Formats: sequence, structure tokens, C-alpha cells
Amino acid sequence: MSEINVLDMARKQLAVAAQYLDLDDGLHAVLAQPKRQVVVNFPVVMDNGEVQCFQGYRVQHNSSRGPTKGGLRYHPEVDLDEATALAMWMTWKCAVVNIPYGGAKGGVKVNTKLLSKRELEKLTRRFISEINIVVGERSDIPAPDVGTNAQTMAWIMDTLSMQVGYTLPGCVTGKPIELGGSEGRVEATGRGVIVSAMEACKVLGMDFSESKIVVQGFGNVGSVAAELAEEAGAKVIGVSDATGAIYNEKGLPIKELYQRYSGVEGGIRNYKDCEHISNTDLLALKCDILMPCAIQAQITDENAADVKAKLVVEGANGPTTLEADHTLSDKGIMVVPDILANAGGVVTSYFEWVQDLQNFFWEEDEVNKRLARIMQRAFADVYAMQQKHKTDMRTAAMIIAVDRVAHATTVRGIFP
Ligand code: GLU
Repeated sequence: MSEINVLDMARKQLAVAAQYLDLDDGLHAVLAQPKRQVVVNFPVVMDNGEVQCFQGYRVQHNSSRGPTKGGLRYHPEVDLDEATALAMWMTWKCAVVNIPYGGAKGGVKVNTKLLSKRELEKLTRRFISEINIVVGERSDIPAPDVGTNAQTMAWIMDTLSMQVGYTLPGCVTGKPIELGGSEGRVEATGRGVIVSAMEACKVLGMDFSESKIVVQGFGNVGSVAAELAEEAGAKVIGVSDATGAIYNEKGLPIKELYQRYSGVEGGIRNYKDCEHISNTDLLALKCDILMPCAIQAQITDENAADVKAKLVVEGANGPTTLEADHTLSDKGIMVVPDILANAGGVVTSYFEWVQDLQNFFWEEDEVNKRLARIMQRAFADVYAMQQKHKTDMRTAAMIIAVDRVAHATTVRGIFP
């Protein structure tokens, strides 16, 4: 999605962990590659009768710890390298929170804003039919990501069900509740970001409810994180969406922003009682906690030195580049890495899948309690590893994740 090669970034992160673990070279080479990459080109008949060709991807990185799991992204800049990097991050994410999945990711190179709902449905049904040879409730389970949502998952579930002849709720997560979705799934990633931020505040001696927060991105992750932060008493002083960023030192009314301005023409910038600022200014605002919840490669070597937050909690996947990581670490800023901070989504996807397989559904309270418990335990594990090696939180999380995956791969043994 930018000139920064995210696959390169993901491989360098792996190399750092491999050094700490003294990982066998052969195993390192295996983990640096995806297990399987599927590229499909497929036609869709558009509303005007013309045929358009789209390219889609599904990449499975590693399945040693279980079926592969990860979202589907609809975005004009999705490509094979990006899907591969994101699949690799899913492997580490599932391992660091210790849920029984490997990592996958996929998507379609498409600008959804140019498609009607009917076109989007046809694109989704055809794309999933093209990759149905590799996805399934026991093999690889898709979920929402940038540009997809519960409706997309409903179409996928319906298409795969039509093909087998019976309803298959467990083949996809992030579905609408009435189709076997889980209570709490929509909010889960944002909720996990806030649980991580609260845990980080505890170890840093900060009071979360007294903190000033900046949230980049007002999609499914950013808007929920901002709203939960506001509910917990914190002040969200800056937010952004695709239209730009806004700032008010006294705090922004997040619920109102979401209900009245989000997703409408002109976006949150229609709100009056604030200053309009650039995305660059937003990331450099004086605050306690910065939550990048948009897309990758946002904090780079160009702007990392300007970050004034004490704590960065990564709601997005890969928002901080490797160079920027070093700068933030030198400045004494704690970064709760994506593979931990945004794992709430996949953790609740795991709950959804378990509920679907058992046909037994939990109440929201139980989902949220279990989610918090898993996130808190994972944070404690990562923090302990960070203290042990006197390193940063990303390296610590990677050490735990890579070690778990390498161990599973070794114990299973190499077939044949
Ligand atoms: N797309 C989300 C992520 O990046 C969720 C994946 C899932 O629930 O499988 O973590």
C-alpha cells in the first residue's frame, strides 16, 4: 500500500526473532515463506453489462498449529506480497495469543467505492468460488479486514454452503449474528486494542482513564477503540478518517462523531468544534497514547522522530516500519505491537468458530470476559519476555510467537 515493502518488513522482523531463538537455518527458511499462495483472475458482469476482470489472492503462511485463519481485504493496492506479509503476521498473531490457528490472508485488488452492492456481491461470490479449493471450516477460515464486513462474510458463507448443499456456518467468521456470528465480534479488535492499552498503562505507571489519546483511522478498529476509550473516561483529542484528521485539545465527542459524521460525504471533518489538521500533524500530536488503527507503514523513518506519545498501541497491521521502531524505542516510547494489540479480532473469531462447530452460542458478556482474559495473559507473557531480554515489545512478541510455531513444526516433524 506504499513504497515500503511490507513483506520485506515482515521477513526482517522474523530474522530478529530467529537470532534471539538461535533458530535452525532450515526452519527459518521455511517460516520466511508462505506454505501456499493462490492467485486468481476472474470475471464479473457489471451492472452496465460489461465484463470486468479482477485479481484475487489467498495466501496461507503456516498451518503447524492448526487451520489457517485471516481476513480478506478489498483494496486497490492489495497484491501478492502484501497478502503474504499479512498472512505471516496472522501466524504470529495467533501464536502470540495462543489460539490454535496458523496464519492466512487474502483479498481482491478493487476499489469498492466504484462498485454497486450487487456488483460487490457478485465479485465476492465469484472470488470465493475461485478459492474454494483452499478454504473451508477445517482448513482455512476467512474473516473481515479492510474493505470487507459482516455482509461480505454472509455472502461467502452462503456461496460455500450452496456448493456443498448444506449450511456451513464455521467456514467464515465475522458473520452477522443471525447467521452464526458471535456476540462481540464486530467490536472485538477495538476492544482488544483498549485492553492492551490498559495493560500497558499499568506497567508504565500511567492512568488510562486520565490519558489523552489520538486515534488514526475511524473504521471498525479505530472507531470502536476511540469509543471504548471515551467510555473509560479517557480524552480522545485527535482522530482521522479517509477525509482527513480533526483535533480538539478538550476532547472530541466520539459517539456523536460516529453516529452523525462517520461514513457520510465529507466524513468526520463535517464536525465543527475542532481544528482540521493533516495526517502528519495527527501522528505528531502531543498525547499520552497514539493508536494507529488505519493501514500499514504510517509511522516511518520520516515521522517517527516527531511522535510525542508515551505509548503506541497498534490497532492496524504493520503501521510502524522497522526503522521507525528503532527511533521510537530510542525515544523510550513503548510500542504494543500489532500481533498482540489487534489480536482481539481473531481471538473472537476463534470463539465464533468454536460456537459454530458446537452450535452453542455464548452471551456477549462471556465473549468479552474471555477475550480480555486472553489479551491480558498474552500481554503479560510479552511484557515478561521484553523484561527478560531487555528488548522492545515487538521483538518480545515475535520471540514468543516464532518459538511456538517453530516448536509445533518440529514436534509434528517434516512429512514424509
Ligand atoms: N482481519 C483481522 C486481522 O487482521 C481478523 C482476522 C480473523 O478474524 O480471522 O486480525
